[in-house]
Amino acid sequence: MPGTPGPEAGGGPAAPGFVLLEEQSLRDGLQNEARLLTVAEKLELVGLLAAAGIRRIQVGSFVDPRRMPQMAGTGELVAQVQADWPHLLCSALVLNARGLERALACGMHHLSLSVSVAESHSRRNVGRAAADALDDMVALVRGAVAAGVRVRAGVQCAFGCLQEGDVDEATVLAAVKRLAAAGAAEINLADTAGLATPFQVRRLVARVRAAVPEARLSLHLHDTGGQGLANLAAGYGAGVRLFDTAAGGLGGCPFVEGVAGNVATEEAVRFFEAIGVATGVDLAALAQVVRRYEALLGRTLVR
Ligand SMILES: [Zn+2]
Repeated sequence: MPGTPGPEAGGGPAAPGFVLLEEQSLRDGLQNEARLLTVAEKLELVGLLAAAGIRRIQVGSFVDPRRMPQMAGTGELVAQVQADWPHLLCSALVLNARGLERALACGMHHLSLSVSVAESHSRRNVGRAAADALDDMVALVRGAVAAGVRVRAGVQCAFGCLQEGDVDEATVLAAVKRLAAAGAAEINLADTAGLATPFQVRRLVARVRAAVPEARLSLHLHDTGGQGLANLAAGYGAGVRLFDTAAGGLGGCPFVEGVAGNVATEEAVRFFEAIGVATGVDLAALAQVVRRYEALLGRTLVR
């Protein structure tokens, strides 16, 4: 959108009255879908998202495609997106050393590295105790930063865990401090299970901002129990200007009862428009993206 004041996509403060949305539909949105999209189909979706005004996209994750076939071809996808949409901030998720190696081989400049602070979630996801996983992640962040990558460090289950319930905020703050000290320019607090409440978002955001004032802060919210937009509003009120959203509210796990998708990009755009905050995203063009997802996945997404 030429002429529209916008935030610098990678970091730095957003302009007043402007928020940046990081599109998650291609990664979080697809990782549990039975229908596997091809790289060509994903590229078509990237094109539609870019045309709708999305500036930052997490296009996939560098995980083992045998374990998660939905994320196969992420390297090829990244190379094509970087070549075809040089102004789009193309990001991907990295969870381990092998993933980082693959991402660096693609020449990526921006990566999301992410670790869980909940014990059972960490053991199930990466087969490591949370404290050990954090040690590993701190080393990975250092390695990525040393390789010239701008790192966003994500804290999964920052607002609680389905198995364990509450996660101690002191644990979250300790993790955030270590990740920022390792060189992460951005800290992402993820409500992985969708358990957050607006009061909790306000309180934790304030504590994290005080603990790592040098880091940019972003929120990754799920819509379990319909709290997604309320939590997003609370985060905005607490000063957050960067939010993860997914077109059509994709995400979560369709096979596990009770975990809802990400906050829908179109709902976030509508919410911010209603309070006079620009996102740079065009709702009519975004509707085309949702329709394309519906056609590809064979189900209705608009609620
Ligand atoms: Zn998520």
